[in-house]
Amino acid sequence: MVKITAIRGFKDVLPEETPKWQFMEYTARSILANYGFREIRIPVMEKTELFTRGIGETTDIVEKEMYTFIDRGEESLSLRPEATASILRAVLEHNLHAVNPVLKLYTIGPMFRRERPQKGRLRQFHQIDAEVLGSEEPYVDAEVIALLMHLLHALGVNHVALEINSLGCAACRSKFREAIRIFLDAYVHSLCPDCIRRSKNNPLRVFDCKVETCRESLMNAPVITDYLCGDCQSHFLRVQEYLSLLSLSFVVNSRMVRGLDYYTRTAFEVTTDLLGAQNAVAGGGRYDGLSEDLGGPRIPGIGFAIGCERILALIKEEHTHNGPYLDIFIAALGEEAQKFALPFSQLLRRKHIKVETGPGGKSLKWLLKQADRTGTPYVLIVGENELNAGSLILRNMKNGEQRLISTSQLEEAIMKILRSEQN
Ligand SMILES: [Zn+2]
Ligand SMILES: [Zn+2]
Repeated sequence: MVKITAIRGFKDVLPEETPKWQFMEYTARSILANYGFREIRIPVMEKTELFTRGIGETTDIVEKEMYTFIDRGEESLSLRPEATASILRAVLEHNLHAVNPVLKLYTIGPMFRRERPQKGRLRQFHQIDAEVLGSEEPYVDAEVIALLMHLLHALGVNHVALEINSLGCAACRSKFREAIRIFLDAYVHSLCPDCIRRSKNNPLRVFDCKVETCRESLMNAPVITDYLCGDCQSHFLRVQEYLSLLSLSFVVNSRMVRGLDYYTRTAFEVTTDLLGAQNAVAGGGRYDGLSEDLGGPRIPGIGFAIGCERILALIKEEHTHNGPYLDIFIAALGEEAQKFALPFSQLLRRKHIKVETGPGGKSLKWLLKQADRTGTPYVLIVGENELNAGSLILRNMKNGEQRLISTSQLEEAIMKILRSEQN
């Protein structure tokens, strides 16, 4: 029979790798809590319309990368390609904004995009996603960016660069869109078919094009920052002022547009050159109009997403204590021995000792080898003769030393030895 393998672009995280994931998630949760964020958990699947309306029908994500299917001939559903639209949908659905006008929410979980696996891209990837809803103050933008930088630093991810931009409001965007349209008309002969289509439907999306000739043509394109209205301009300046106040260094990149339609005003990206080519590890921005696009009241918002797999590649081993996962292994020889070992391991586990009892019907040699594979520092050997005589052997796996312990003092003695080991 042919073996069944995982789907391309969908990856297993094996036990050797999970300590790093746990370190990352634990660090993220504790720092997000320091900033007053609370966790929200949203479904991995939504009605497709949420993403076409939220992210934008003519974005690459929605057009090319979403996993969309008709559920039993009834309704179009999609696996979530990102978290922001779902979080806002949940907030509106449960009226969370009515109870608390300023919400700080985060979620950690898988996202799905049908990207090219040959480039090493995953189709199920993970994000740490944080959102602040209910304020358009530039103060909040700076604080969200500071949180992101704090988090990356706590994960030991240094050598990162912060780029910011302002994408303006609806008013400045329509002027910019017109300027881009005029500019693109002159370059129409050197644009790819996608960009020709984009130039008619959604001109800003030409900046997402990865085709080299398009990128070259766009070198001289107008930039959004030249089209900002007075309000957007002063908002952007105040964000920069606050970032400086926080001693965060940044570069204004007026060509950064991000790949989603919902962004307004502040957009930002954190890149590193440690992953080969300059690579984004996190990014985000403001989306003051998204709530209205989804049929809600005006709820301005800003947030970011961190790409977990990219961060994991940068987390150093020393940040995750990948020690033995057992404190003690019990090698029980024979049925009487197992009858002793079973309740005794439960007793230790209730005292937070990590215990595993070897399977029955195996030789001592086999059990010691198995114990060695787990990396356990101690093995308790339960032989039937020893059990009848009232004392058992505890073997130190590091130096092979064995000592005899009376069964009446077994629990006390083992606790004492393991505690001194842990200190
Ligand atoms: Zn504006
Ligand atoms: Zn193009």
